[in-house]
Parts: sequence; C-alpha cells; structure tokens
Amino acid sequence: MKKNFRIFVYSDYPCASLNIDVVQERINELGFPVEDRGNLIDFLSLSEQGIYKLGQDLSSVQIPDISIPVDSTNPPDRNEIASEVNRILGRESAAGKFYDGFWIQRILYRALAEKVADEIKSGFIHLIFTSRLFGTFENRRYHARVVLMGTPALISTSGLVEAPAKPKEYYYIKGRLIQTGRDVSELDRMYKGRFVEYDDPNISSILPSYALQAVGYEITGNAFCEDPDCCLFNSHWQEDVLKVQYNGNPCEKCMELIRGK
Ligand SMILES: [Zn+2]
Repeated sequence: MKKNFRIFVYSDYPCASLNIDVVQERINELGFPVEDRGNLIDFLSLSEQGIYKLGQDLSSVQIPDISIPVDSTNPPDRNEIASEVNRILGRESAAGKFYDGFWIQRILYRALAEKVADEIKSGFIHLIFTSRLFGTFENRRYHARVVLMGTPALISTSGLVEAPAKPKEYYYIKGRLIQTGRDVSELDRMYKGRFVEYDDPNISSILPSYALQAVGYEITGNAFCEDPDCCLFNSHWQEDVLKVQYNGNPCEKCMELIRGK
C-alpha cells in the first residue's frame, strides 16, 4: 500500500447483520490496515446542542420527491428533527427515509473536520458504514447508491439492498401480481438468494469490496474498474454483487494501483 495512508472506519447504526470486524479483517488481509473508530456519534462526542443541529441538518436533506434535487433549504419540520435526533442516537430506525448523499457527506465532513481537523487531508481515508439510504441526482431523478466516494466515504447497508437491481423478470412478475391484486411475498421466497436482503448475513462479506472501492478511489482517483470479475467493478445487478463483490477479489491491475507498486 502507498505509504502514509491511514484508513478509519466508523459506524452509524448499519444493519445488525453487518459485522465490522469481518470487514476490517478482510481489508487488513488485502494489506490495508484499518483503524476502527466505532460508533460515529460517540466518536464525534457532540454536545446536546450539536446533536440537535446535526438532526436539523440531516432532516433537511431528506428527499421528499425523487425528481427534485434537494437544495438544503427544505425547512426542517420539528417532529422530523426530533425523529432524526433519535436516529442519530440509534433509538429510531432510518428505514423508509431517503437522503441526498452529497449533502450527508458535506454535513459529516464538517462534523469530522471539527473533531479531527488535522486528519481531513490527503493520506487519511474515512469510511462511514450507515443504514441511511442515500442517493445522487442524475438523469432527472435520484438513484440510490451503495457507496459514495469522497471524504468521508459513505457505505450504506440499505443501499446494498435497494440500489443494485434485482433480476429483470422479478420486476415483471411483481408488476403482474400487483396488477391482479395478488400477494407478492411468495415471489420474494422464490427469488431468495438472488438478491441481498435486509439483515442478510452476506452483507459482511460483500461490503469490504465497497470499502475497497472507496479506498481505491482516494488513492488512485479511479472510481471503478472495467473488469467485470474485479470487486472494484461497478455492479448494477444484485446477481453480480452476489458474485463479484461477494468474492471480493480485486484484479491484479487494481491491486498494483492501490498498493502503489
Ligand atoms: Zn480491477
């Protein structure tokens, strides 16, 4: 690995089946030492006022309409701020909420910069594992993402479930079932194992690949690899994620680039 890079991992209530130790071990195995900083909010050691401000900021960057980019001037609703504070403290789930990824990144950048100003620069990589579902606005609407490169890099356990597409025929059959007013739960059972589910034990094996994508981006400036067998490949389908990201092997070219040979 290129010298002088330090990788820090934080968690912001990712889904319960994500074992950060497994992720850390896997990245260590590949030759990239990781320092686990535990719970992000505990690490930031915010005051009560700081937590309220963070709740205010995060609630204002939720996406009410996926066809309109969030400009952060969404007036935060008092109840929603209270809920957001609960989510920050792990007392309420972020399920069903959708956030603008770049705004979350800016908000958390500011929070980290206040806490560890001397570590917000080249050579320091910050990875935050979160359950918050976030997206980026492209082609006239928001698309959910698993990973957002940058400082800090965000990796979403909900994004892993929601962003990569399920098999095409799954959507077709689901549409037909809904049209005819039938139960769709049987369909999920039929397709079990062909996509990642919430609280799927595979999550711990898959996410090291996304962590490595974020690390690779910081070191080389390349977001993704073109090789469909490389774990830095930008998989659009759940079935590819379950194969390529699950296996978690970077191609030789990527390994050399990241290691800086
Ligand atoms: Zn590669």
